[in-house]
Amino acid sequence: MIGGGIIGASIAWRLAERGVEVTVIDAGELGGEASSAGAGMLAPGAEITDVSIWQALALESLRGYADYVAQLTEQSGVAIDYRRFGAIELALTEEEWTGLRERSERQTFFGIPSEALSAEATRERITALDTRALKGALWYPDDAVVDPRHIMAALRVALQKLGVKLIEKSAVESIAINAGVVEVRSPEVHMRATDAVLAAGAWASGIRVSVAGEPLALTRSYPVRGHLTKYAAAPDTLQPILRHHHTYLLQRTNGPLIAGTSQEDVGFNRTVDPATEADIRSRAEALIPGLVKDQPSETWTGFRPAAEGLEPVLGQISGQPLWLAYGHYRNGILMAPATADLIVNQMVR
Ligand SMILES: Cc1cc2nc3c(=O)[nH]c(=O)nc-3n(C[C@H](O)[C@H](O)[C@H](O)COP(=O)(O)OP(=O)(O)OC[C@H]3O[C@@H](n4cnc5c(N)ncnc54)[C@H](O)[C@@H]3O)c2cc1C
Repeated sequence: MIGGGIIGASIAWRLAERGVEVTVIDAGELGGEASSAGAGMLAPGAEITDVSIWQALALESLRGYADYVAQLTEQSGVAIDYRRFGAIELALTEEEWTGLRERSERQTFFGIPSEALSAEATRERITALDTRALKGALWYPDDAVVDPRHIMAALRVALQKLGVKLIEKSAVESIAINAGVVEVRSPEVHMRATDAVLAAGAWASGIRVSVAGEPLALTRSYPVRGHLTKYAAAPDTLQPILRHHHTYLLQRTNGPLIAGTSQEDVGFNRTVDPATEADIRSRAEALIPGLVKDQPSETWTGFRPAAEGLEPVLGQISGQPLWLAYGHYRNGILMAPATADLIVNQMVR
Protein backbone atom coordinates (compact mmCIF):
# COMPACT_ATOMS: atom_id res chain seq x y z
CA MET A 1 0.00 0.00 0.00
CA ILE A 2 1.53 3.31 -1.05
CA GLY A 3 -0.02 6.03 1.11
CA GLY A 4 -1.56 5.65 4.55
CA GLY A 5 -4.33 8.25 4.62
CA ILE A 6 -7.88 7.15 5.37
CA ILE A 7 -8.18 5.64 1.89
CA GLY A 8 -4.96 3.57 1.94
CA ALA A 9 -5.30 2.58 5.60
CA SER A 10 -8.95 1.52 5.16
CA ILE A 11 -8.06 -0.63 2.16
CA ALA A 12 -5.08 -2.10 4.07
CA TRP A 13 -7.35 -2.88 7.05
CA ARG A 14 -9.97 -4.66 4.94
CA LEU A 15 -7.27 -6.59 3.02
CA ALA A 16 -5.60 -7.71 6.27
CA GLU A 17 -8.99 -8.82 7.63
CA ARG A 18 -9.22 -11.14 4.63
CA GLY A 19 -5.84 -12.63 5.48
CA VAL A 20 -3.75 -10.73 2.92
CA GLU A 21 -0.19 -9.83 3.99
CA VAL A 22 0.04 -6.03 3.72
CA THR A 23 2.80 -3.42 4.03
CA VAL A 24 1.83 0.27 4.18
CA ILE A 25 4.50 2.78 3.15
CA ASP A 26 3.84 6.45 3.89
CA ALA A 27 5.95 9.50 3.11
CA GLY A 28 5.02 11.00 6.48
CA GLU A 29 2.86 9.53 9.22
CA LEU A 30 -0.25 7.39 8.90
CA GLY A 31 -3.10 9.87 8.46
CA GLY A 32 -0.75 12.83 8.70
CA GLU A 33 -2.15 14.71 5.69
CA ALA A 34 -5.69 15.40 4.40
CA SER A 35 -7.15 12.62 6.52
CA SER A 36 -6.32 14.40 9.78
CA ALA A 37 -7.04 17.84 8.38
CA GLY A 38 -10.58 17.04 7.21
CA ALA A 39 -13.65 18.24 9.07
CA GLY A 40 -15.32 14.83 8.98
CA MET A 41 -18.72 15.76 7.57
CA LEU A 42 -20.44 12.70 6.17
CA ALA A 43 -22.78 14.91 4.27
CA PRO A 44 -23.92 14.08 0.75
CA GLY A 45 -26.76 16.56 1.38
CA ALA A 46 -24.74 19.62 0.41
CA GLU A 47 -21.91 17.87 -1.44
CA ILE A 48 -23.64 15.63 -3.96
CA THR A 49 -26.02 17.57 -6.13
CA ASP A 50 -26.07 15.45 -9.29
CA VAL A 51 -25.92 11.82 -10.39
CA SER A 52 -22.27 10.75 -10.68
CA ILE A 53 -19.73 8.24 -9.44
CA TRP A 54 -19.53 10.43 -6.31
CA GLN A 55 -23.21 9.97 -5.60
CA ALA A 56 -23.14 6.15 -5.80
CA LEU A 57 -20.03 5.78 -3.62
CA ALA A 58 -21.02 8.49 -1.16
CA LEU A 59 -24.46 7.03 -0.52
CA GLU A 60 -23.15 3.49 -0.19
CA SER A 61 -20.48 4.73 2.25
CA LEU A 62 -22.96 6.72 4.31
CA ARG A 63 -25.22 3.65 4.61
CA GLY A 64 -22.30 1.56 5.86
CA TYR A 65 -20.61 4.19 8.06
CA ALA A 66 -22.11 3.13 11.40
CA ASP A 67 -20.92 -0.45 10.81
CA TYR A 68 -17.46 0.73 9.68
CA VAL A 69 -17.11 2.78 12.88
CA ALA A 70 -18.48 -0.02 15.08
CA GLN A 71 -16.13 -2.63 13.61
CA LEU A 72 -13.14 -0.32 13.82
CA THR A 73 -13.92 0.57 17.43
CA GLU A 74 -14.37 -3.07 18.36
CA GLN A 75 -11.12 -4.19 16.73
CA SER A 76 -9.00 -1.28 17.94
CA GLY A 77 -10.52 -0.39 21.30
CA VAL A 78 -10.26 3.29 20.23
CA ALA A 79 -13.39 5.40 20.79
CA ILE A 80 -14.56 7.27 17.67
CA ASP A 81 -16.71 10.40 17.86
CA TYR A 82 -19.44 9.64 15.31
CA ARG A 83 -22.87 11.27 15.42
CA ARG A 84 -25.81 11.25 13.07
CA PHE A 85 -27.61 14.51 13.82
CA GLY A 86 -28.34 15.54 10.22
CA ALA A 87 -27.45 18.79 8.47
CA ILE A 88 -29.22 22.08 7.86
CA GLU A 89 -28.53 24.23 4.81
CA LEU A 90 -29.71 27.81 4.97
CA ALA A 91 -31.21 30.09 2.33
CA LEU A 92 -30.79 33.79 3.13
CA THR A 93 -32.39 35.16 -0.04
CA GLU A 94 -35.43 34.16 -2.11
CA GLU A 95 -33.09 33.17 -4.94
CA GLU A 96 -31.11 30.85 -2.67
CA TRP A 97 -34.34 29.34 -1.36
CA THR A 98 -35.58 28.60 -4.89
CA GLY A 99 -32.20 27.02 -5.72
CA LEU A 100 -32.25 24.83 -2.62
CA ARG A 101 -35.77 23.58 -3.27
CA GLU A 102 -34.89 22.68 -6.87
CA ARG A 103 -31.80 20.86 -5.61
CA SER A 104 -33.87 18.99 -3.05
CA GLU A 105 -36.21 17.70 -5.78
CA ARG A 106 -33.28 16.41 -7.85
CA GLN A 107 -31.66 14.79 -4.81
CA THR A 108 -34.87 13.04 -3.72
CA PHE A 109 -34.92 11.43 -7.15
CA PHE A 110 -31.44 9.90 -6.68
CA GLY A 111 -31.70 8.92 -3.04
CA ILE A 112 -30.84 11.89 -0.79
CA PRO A 113 -33.90 12.78 1.31
CA SER A 114 -34.46 16.28 2.64
CA GLU A 115 -37.25 18.34 4.15
CA ALA A 116 -38.02 22.06 3.95
CA LEU A 117 -37.88 23.90 7.29
CA SER A 118 -39.45 27.22 8.22
CA ALA A 119 -37.36 29.84 10.03
CA GLU A 120 -39.08 28.89 13.32
CA ALA A 121 -38.41 25.19 12.86
CA THR A 122 -34.78 25.94 11.99
CA ARG A 123 -34.35 28.07 15.10
CA GLU A 124 -35.80 25.26 17.23
CA ARG A 125 -33.10 22.92 15.96
CA ILE A 126 -30.24 25.46 16.29
CA THR A 127 -31.02 27.98 19.01
CA ALA A 128 -27.69 29.79 18.60
CA LEU A 129 -28.42 30.64 14.95
CA ASP A 130 -28.98 34.21 13.72
CA THR A 131 -32.21 33.74 11.74
CA ARG A 132 -32.94 37.39 10.95
CA ALA A 133 -32.36 37.01 7.20
CA LEU A 134 -33.52 33.41 6.93
CA LYS A 135 -35.88 32.62 4.03
CA GLY A 136 -35.95 28.87 4.61
CA ALA A 137 -33.71 25.87 5.14
CA LEU A 138 -33.29 22.29 4.04
CA TRP A 139 -32.97 19.54 6.62
CA TYR A 140 -30.91 16.50 5.61
CA PRO A 141 -31.73 13.87 8.25
CA ASP A 142 -29.17 11.25 7.12
CA ASP A 143 -26.03 13.41 7.25
CA ALA A 144 -23.52 12.70 10.02
CA VAL A 145 -20.18 13.76 11.46
CA VAL A 146 -17.09 11.78 12.45
CA ASP A 147 -13.76 12.85 13.93
CA PRO A 148 -11.28 11.70 11.27
CA ARG A 149 -8.36 11.90 13.74
CA HIS A 150 -10.12 9.24 15.82
CA ILE A 151 -10.61 7.10 12.72
CA MET A 152 -6.91 7.33 11.89
CA ALA A 153 -5.89 6.49 15.48
CA ALA A 154 -8.20 3.47 15.39
CA LEU A 155 -6.93 2.34 12.00
CA ARG A 156 -3.34 2.48 13.28
CA VAL A 157 -4.18 0.11 16.15
CA ALA A 158 -6.35 -2.18 13.98
CA LEU A 159 -3.54 -2.48 11.41
CA GLN A 160 -0.99 -3.27 14.12
CA LYS A 161 -3.25 -5.94 15.62
CA LEU A 162 -3.69 -7.59 12.22
CA GLY A 163 0.09 -7.67 11.68
CA VAL A 164 0.23 -5.05 8.90
CA LYS A 165 3.79 -3.75 8.47
CA LEU A 166 3.88 0.04 8.61
CA ILE A 167 6.83 1.98 7.17
CA GLU A 168 6.55 5.73 7.84
CA LYS A 169 8.68 8.69 6.75
CA SER A 170 9.58 6.95 3.52
CA ALA A 171 8.42 8.54 0.25
CA VAL A 172 7.96 6.07 -2.58
CA GLU A 173 9.62 7.34 -5.75
CA SER A 174 8.79 4.62 -8.24
CA ILE A 175 6.60 1.61 -8.91
CA ALA A 176 7.92 -0.72 -11.62
CA ILE A 177 5.91 -3.66 -12.93
CA ASN A 178 7.84 -6.38 -14.74
CA ALA A 179 6.43 -9.79 -15.66
CA GLY A 180 3.58 -9.40 -13.20
CA VAL A 181 5.83 -8.48 -10.24
CA VAL A 182 5.66 -5.03 -8.62
CA GLU A 183 8.83 -3.34 -7.36
CA VAL A 184 8.35 -0.37 -5.06
CA ARG A 185 11.28 1.92 -4.31
CA SER A 186 11.85 4.72 -1.87
CA PRO A 187 15.26 5.93 -0.68
CA GLU A 188 14.92 3.58 2.31
CA VAL A 189 12.91 0.69 0.89
CA HIS A 190 13.12 -1.63 -2.09
CA MET A 191 10.42 -4.23 -1.98
CA ARG A 192 8.72 -6.69 -4.31
CA ALA A 193 5.05 -7.54 -4.10
CA THR A 194 2.44 -9.50 -6.02
CA ASP A 195 0.08 -6.49 -6.03
CA ALA A 196 0.21 -2.81 -5.06
CA VAL A 197 -2.32 -0.08 -4.36
CA LEU A 198 -1.44 3.57 -4.99
CA ALA A 199 -3.38 5.69 -2.49
CA ALA A 200 -1.06 8.66 -2.09
CA GLY A 201 -3.77 11.36 -2.22
CA ALA A 202 -2.72 14.65 -3.79
CA TRP A 203 0.79 13.27 -4.39
CA ALA A 204 -0.25 10.09 -6.27
CA SER A 205 0.59 11.07 -9.84
CA GLY A 206 3.99 12.40 -8.80
CA ILE A 207 5.19 8.83 -8.29
CA ARG A 208 6.85 7.29 -11.37
CA VAL A 209 5.04 4.19 -12.62
CA SER A 210 6.35 1.93 -15.37
CA VAL A 211 5.22 -1.30 -17.00
CA ALA A 212 7.94 -3.42 -18.65
CA GLY A 213 10.21 -0.38 -18.65
CA GLU A 214 7.67 1.93 -20.33
CA PRO A 215 6.46 4.94 -18.30
CA LEU A 216 2.74 4.91 -17.54
CA ALA A 217 0.95 8.26 -17.32
CA LEU A 218 -1.48 8.43 -14.41
CA THR A 219 -4.46 10.78 -14.18
CA ARG A 220 -2.96 13.93 -12.67
CA SER A 221 -3.52 14.47 -8.96
CA TYR A 222 -3.16 17.89 -7.35
CA PRO A 223 -3.82 19.62 -4.02
CA VAL A 224 -6.70 21.99 -3.29
CA ARG A 225 -5.81 23.67 -0.01
CA GLY A 226 -8.49 24.22 2.62
CA HIS A 227 -8.45 26.08 5.94
CA LEU A 228 -10.41 25.10 9.05
CA THR A 229 -10.74 27.02 12.31
CA LYS A 230 -11.58 25.53 15.70
CA TYR A 231 -13.52 27.35 18.44
CA ALA A 232 -13.65 26.17 22.06
CA ALA A 233 -17.45 26.33 22.28
CA ALA A 234 -19.74 24.83 24.91
CA PRO A 235 -20.89 21.27 24.02
CA ASP A 236 -24.21 21.10 22.19
CA THR A 237 -24.01 24.67 20.84
CA LEU A 238 -24.75 22.92 17.55
CA GLN A 239 -26.05 19.44 16.89
CA PRO A 240 -26.72 19.24 13.14
CA ILE A 241 -24.08 20.42 10.68
CA LEU A 242 -24.90 24.02 9.68
CA ARG A 243 -24.17 25.19 6.14
CA HIS A 244 -24.57 28.23 4.00
CA HIS A 245 -22.76 28.24 0.64
CA HIS A 246 -19.05 27.63 1.33
CA THR A 247 -19.43 28.18 5.06
CA TYR A 248 -20.03 25.26 7.38
CA LEU A 249 -19.95 24.62 11.09
CA LEU A 250 -19.97 21.35 12.97
CA GLN A 251 -19.27 20.35 16.53
CA ARG A 252 -17.38 17.51 18.21
CA THR A 253 -19.13 15.84 21.16
CA ASN A 254 -16.75 17.29 23.75
CA GLY A 255 -17.16 20.89 22.56
CA PRO A 256 -14.76 21.99 19.81
CA LEU A 257 -16.70 23.67 17.04
CA ILE A 258 -15.09 23.62 13.61
CA ALA A 259 -15.72 26.27 10.97
CA GLY A 260 -14.75 26.14 7.33
CA THR A 261 -13.69 26.58 4.70
CA SER A 262 -11.63 27.77 1.73
CA GLN A 263 -10.69 26.23 -1.61
CA GLU A 264 -7.30 27.43 -2.81
CA ASP A 265 -5.07 26.58 -5.72
CA VAL A 266 -1.68 27.26 -4.07
CA GLY A 267 0.17 23.98 -4.55
CA PHE A 268 1.61 22.25 -1.49
CA ASN A 269 1.84 25.44 0.56
CA ARG A 270 0.82 24.61 4.15
CA THR A 271 0.94 28.15 5.52
CA VAL A 272 -2.12 29.44 7.37
CA ASP A 273 -3.21 32.65 5.63
CA PRO A 274 -4.44 35.21 8.22
CA ALA A 275 -6.83 36.83 5.70
CA THR A 276 -8.47 33.48 4.90
CA GLU A 277 -8.71 32.66 8.59
CA ALA A 278 -10.36 36.04 9.27
CA ASP A 279 -12.80 35.49 6.40
CA ILE A 280 -13.85 32.07 7.77
CA ARG A 281 -14.29 33.58 11.25
CA SER A 282 -16.45 36.42 10.01
CA ARG A 283 -18.66 34.06 7.95
CA ALA A 284 -19.03 31.63 10.89
CA GLU A 285 -19.71 34.40 13.42
CA ALA A 286 -22.37 35.91 11.15
CA LEU A 287 -24.30 32.63 11.38
CA ILE A 288 -23.69 31.95 15.11
CA PRO A 289 -23.14 35.39 16.70
CA GLY A 290 -22.34 33.83 20.09
CA LEU A 291 -19.05 32.56 18.65
CA VAL A 292 -17.61 36.09 18.81
CA LYS A 293 -16.86 35.57 22.50
CA ASP A 294 -14.94 32.32 21.79
CA GLN A 295 -11.45 32.96 20.45
CA PRO A 296 -10.45 30.36 17.84
CA SER A 297 -7.96 28.02 19.48
CA GLU A 298 -6.45 26.61 16.30
CA THR A 299 -6.47 27.07 12.52
CA TRP A 300 -4.95 24.58 10.12
CA THR A 301 -4.72 23.76 6.44
CA GLY A 302 -4.88 20.53 4.48
CA PHE A 303 -4.62 19.36 0.88
CA ARG A 304 -7.79 17.92 -0.61
CA PRO A 305 -6.63 15.34 -3.14
CA ALA A 306 -8.18 16.34 -6.45
CA ALA A 307 -7.71 14.49 -9.73
CA GLU A 308 -8.00 15.82 -13.26
CA GLY A 309 -11.68 15.90 -14.20
CA LEU A 310 -12.64 16.10 -10.51
CA GLU A 311 -13.54 12.45 -10.28
CA PRO A 312 -11.93 9.86 -8.03
CA VAL A 313 -9.45 7.54 -9.73
CA LEU A 314 -10.43 4.04 -8.67
CA GLY A 315 -9.65 0.52 -9.85
CA GLN A 316 -7.11 -1.70 -11.50
CA ILE A 317 -4.74 -0.67 -14.25
CA SER A 318 -5.94 -3.03 -16.93
CA GLY A 319 -4.28 -6.42 -16.66
CA GLN A 320 -1.61 -5.17 -14.23
CA PRO A 321 -1.15 -5.90 -10.52
CA LEU A 322 -1.62 -2.22 -9.63
CA TRP A 323 -4.76 -0.60 -8.23
CA LEU A 324 -5.36 3.15 -7.96
CA ALA A 325 -7.38 4.82 -5.20
CA TYR A 326 -6.95 8.59 -5.12
CA GLY A 327 -8.69 11.85 -6.01
CA HIS A 328 -11.41 11.77 -3.33
CA TYR A 329 -11.23 15.56 -3.17
CA ARG A 330 -13.79 17.00 -0.68
CA ASN A 331 -15.32 13.68 0.39
CA GLY A 332 -12.62 11.13 1.18
CA ILE A 333 -13.58 10.76 4.83
CA LEU A 334 -17.12 9.98 3.74
CA MET A 335 -16.11 7.70 0.89
CA ALA A 336 -13.40 5.63 2.62
CA PRO A 337 -15.58 2.63 3.64
CA ALA A 338 -17.13 2.11 0.19
CA THR A 339 -13.80 2.74 -1.55
CA ALA A 340 -12.11 0.09 0.59
CA ASP A 341 -14.87 -2.44 -0.17
CA LEU A 342 -14.72 -1.66 -3.89
CA ILE A 343 -10.96 -2.12 -4.18
CA VAL A 344 -10.73 -5.13 -1.86
CA ASN A 345 -13.56 -6.95 -3.65
CA GLN A 346 -11.68 -6.51 -6.91
CA MET A 347 -8.35 -7.64 -5.44
CA VAL A 348 -9.52 -10.63 -3.38
CA ARG A 349 -11.87 -12.94 -5.21
C1 LIG B 1 -9.90 21.44 5.01
C2 LIG B 1 -10.44 20.11 4.58
C3 LIG B 1 -11.71 19.73 4.97
C4 LIG B 1 -12.23 18.49 4.58
N1 LIG B 1 -13.45 18.11 5.03
C5 LIG B 1 -13.95 16.90 4.68
C6 LIG B 1 -15.19 16.46 5.19
O1 LIG B 1 -15.82 17.15 5.99
N2 LIG B 1 -15.66 15.25 4.79
C7 LIG B 1 -14.98 14.43 3.93
O2 LIG B 1 -15.46 13.36 3.59
N3 LIG B 1 -13.78 14.83 3.44
C8 LIG B 1 -13.25 16.04 3.79
N4 LIG B 1 -12.05 16.45 3.30
C9 LIG B 1 -11.39 15.62 2.29
C10 LIG B 1 -10.70 14.43 2.90
O3 LIG B 1 -9.90 14.87 3.99
C11 LIG B 1 -9.84 13.75 1.84
O4 LIG B 1 -10.61 13.48 0.68
C12 LIG B 1 -9.29 12.42 2.36
O5 LIG B 1 -8.63 12.60 3.58
C13 LIG B 1 -8.33 11.82 1.34
O6 LIG B 1 -7.71 10.71 1.91
P1 LIG B 1 -6.45 10.09 1.18
O7 LIG B 1 -6.07 8.90 2.00
O8 LIG B 1 -6.73 9.90 -0.26
O9 LIG B 1 -5.35 11.26 1.24
P2 LIG B 1 -4.35 11.70 2.38
O10 LIG B 1 -4.98 11.67 3.72
O11 LIG B 1 -3.72 12.97 1.95
O12 LIG B 1 -3.30 10.52 2.40
C14 LIG B 1 -2.34 10.36 1.41
C15 LIG B 1 -1.11 9.78 2.09
O13 LIG B 1 -0.14 9.48 1.10
C16 LIG B 1 1.12 9.78 1.64
N5 LIG B 1 2.08 9.97 0.55
C17 LIG B 1 2.25 11.06 -0.24
N6 LIG B 1 3.26 10.86 -1.11
C18 LIG B 1 3.74 9.62 -0.87
C19 LIG B 1 4.79 8.85 -1.41
N7 LIG B 1 5.56 9.32 -2.40
N8 LIG B 1 5.03 7.62 -0.88
C20 LIG B 1 4.27 7.15 0.14
N9 LIG B 1 3.26 7.84 0.70
C21 LIG B 1 2.98 9.05 0.20
C22 LIG B 1 0.89 11.03 2.46
O14 LIG B 1 1.92 11.17 3.43
C23 LIG B 1 -0.48 10.77 3.06
O15 LIG B 1 -0.40 10.21 4.36
C24 LIG B 1 -11.48 17.64 3.73
C25 LIG B 1 -10.18 18.01 3.37
C26 LIG B 1 -9.67 19.23 3.79
C27 LIG B 1 -8.26 19.58 3.41
